[in-house]
Amino acid sequence: MVSDKMEKIVALAKRRGFIYPGSEIYGGLANTYDYGPLGTELLRNIKDLWWKTFVQKHSDIVGLDASLISHQKVWEASGHVSGFADAMIDCKNCKARMRADHLIEDSLPDQKVEGLPIDKLQKIIEQNKIKCPNCGKIDWTDVRKFNQLFPVQLGIVEGDKGLAYLRGETAQGMFINFRNIVDSTRVRLPFGIAQQGKGFRNEITPGNSVFRTIEFDMSEIEYFFDPKQSNWQELFEKWKAEIWDFVIKKLGIDETNLRWREHTNEERSFYSMRTEDLEYQFPFGFKELWGLAYRTDYDLRQHMDLSKKDLTIVDPQTGIKILPHVIEPAVGINRLLLMVLVDSYKEEEKRVVLQIHPMLAPYKVAVFPLLGNKEELISKARSIFDDLQEDFSVVFDGRGNIGKRYMAQDEAGTPWCVTVDFDTLDDDTVTIRDRNTADQERVAIKDLASYFQAKLA
Ligand SMILES: [Zn+2]
Repeated sequence: MVSDKMEKIVALAKRRGFIYPGSEIYGGLANTYDYGPLGTELLRNIKDLWWKTFVQKHSDIVGLDASLISHQKVWEASGHVSGFADAMIDCKNCKARMRADHLIEDSLPDQKVEGLPIDKLQKIIEQNKIKCPNCGKIDWTDVRKFNQLFPVQLGIVEGDKGLAYLRGETAQGMFINFRNIVDSTRVRLPFGIAQQGKGFRNEITPGNSVFRTIEFDMSEIEYFFDPKQSNWQELFEKWKAEIWDFVIKKLGIDETNLRWREHTNEERSFYSMRTEDLEYQFPFGFKELWGLAYRTDYDLRQHMDLSKKDLTIVDPQTGIKILPHVIEPAVGINRLLLMVLVDSYKEEEKRVVLQIHPMLAPYKVAVFPLLGNKEELISKARSIFDDLQEDFSVVFDGRGNIGKRYMAQDEAGTPWCVTVDFDTLDDDTVTIRDRNTADQERVAIKDLASYFQAKLA
């Protein structure tokens, strides 16, 4: 289901250089996207803000950057080799392939399908005579499992041992390096390991823009604790509050578009004591943004069993060995980016404006000469641009008329535009125009940097 608003946002994202379809000059490649100049800045700003908030400002959390390709045993232990599968169905008539759960959700919005076994899914599709959304026929194959891990064949190792996988999530990197981190740093329970980087999933359902893609930027924390010393419910609530705060205050999202949803018994992993998703109301419905799961000691135990390595920590007071439990907040940065675009998109009478939080805006300031063909104005604007560039992400535009330039910057989400006009040449002041209000004020050039610093503080 593509809404009108979603179509407009996707069009703007392409027009202004946020998001392009992947491999577009060759006709595109399903579920892949490329980030243009503005999208790259926005993605980086969200990632940096996440890192600053959850790692830099937490003395109990350390970072990790694990390999994208990992040993097949990692994914055996994690359960991905046997369980990381979607239920897939094909239309025999038009050959369209889709996820059985998505097919059901789209035609029966009230039907809960998460965690249902494939025979149940099959039954629902048959009993409700669900038609192919592509051709309208009812001519289905059986529902069958489809593993989402991407296998890779390594050249330096012979035979079956050369089989490795692109990581399906960043989390396993934290578990397999748990021993290394404990041995090489000063961490003590409770503590977290944080990681940002790509994960890969062989998705078969085309997702709404970058909402569901086969490669995605994840930001995950594994927060380890001793269940005898720390109360998991308290930790869980603390994480909920921190995530909520980040989305509202740092990303500037309207809280009426957000909700927490607890997983039902069917959809929650068998080892998890509690899982909640922070959901955002996209134009295509409330969808998962951020998962928070109490995973007990399942992951470390699995790796300990399969690797035969001791992953316990010795309690310095009692000398007793502990296998820590873990709470995992995990988010896809691409979903955060899409949410930021959707939430900041505003249509006004005479313009479209992205009211992106200034801290996230790809460009903080745009600098214009009033006229693009007057050398004195251009060189003055250039020197202001050069100075501001030291501290801010700035863009220069001398093309077209001033109205068109404002329009372009409004759609790019640039919070402030600085215009150099003929008065500037006399009194060294410029006009600053505010994106949200379109109000203008006159500020001395020497005060510009501190003016923007104060606004961004
Ligand atoms: Zn069909």
